Amino acid sequence: MLTVRGLRVRYGRSTAALHGIDLDVSADGVLAVLGSNGAGKSTLLRAVSGTLRMHRGSIDAGEIRYDGHPLGRLDPARIVRLGVVGVPEGRQIFARMTVEENLRAGGIGARTAAERAAARKRVDELFPVLTERARQRAGLLSGGEQQMLAIGRALMSAPRLLLLDEPSLGLAPKVVAQIGRTVREIHDQGTAVVLVEQNAVMALGVADHAVVLEVGRVALAGTAAELAASQDVQRLYLGGH
Ligand code: ATP
Repeated sequence: MLTVRGLRVRYGRSTAALHGIDLDVSADGVLAVLGSNGAGKSTLLRAVSGTLRMHRGSIDAGEIRYDGHPLGRLDPARIVRLGVVGVPEGRQIFARMTVEENLRAGGIGARTAAERAAARKRVDELFPVLTERARQRAGLLSGGEQQMLAIGRALMSAPRLLLLDEPSLGLAPKVVAQIGRTVREIHDQGTAVVLVEQNAVMALGVADHAVVLEVGRVALAGTAAELAASQDVQRLYLGGH
């Protein structure tokens, strides 16, 4: 579904942030992207979603293909309409707008009114709390609810591939577990997911496959079970010895 080959990215004149990344996301999978601060996880998602330029970044070499379409030169709205939708780090919800207005703002990728209605129903079922709070200002939601809103807003574009950038950031363990279950449910409903996480326990519990990025390179790749069993991953990311 998504293939990334030899992807090199840099910001301005600084040294490359990604040094030639290869990865594949299958249509029926969750791919976890692990790695410590600055490893290049967000950069990878920005490259796929077409938002690198907003951060003064650019693709130096390599290619990103989604269902045969080269994404590298497309603008973000076009990529959303192809079915690839991202939830950026830090959620970026519109705090002064109501929950409902946030959700409506996310519907730009839906192709028809029927698709939009189906997406709204899906969000309703996944996150009943958002429907209960539809008229409240989004800034009044808890951190976990804001993350749900950010995911719900992305789902309003009826994605076939959802890109999540650290959805667990700053959330309590119980809420993180809930987000993890939701990611799996979204996958079971037929949406592929790339899950960028520093929380390796949650991510490997949810994912089918995983890669570990280290300073802009893929250091390890395999099934989630293989990586969970890897001594390097245990030592560095799972708190083992
Ligand atoms: P984090 O979890 O901290 O977001 P990350 O793995 O997502 O880490 P990136 O944010 O992709 O890492 O950063 C990769 C490298 O690119 C780092 O060296 C970082 O300093 C650099 N970088 C990221 N964004 C920019 C930017 N807008 N301008 C310049 N350099 C950047």
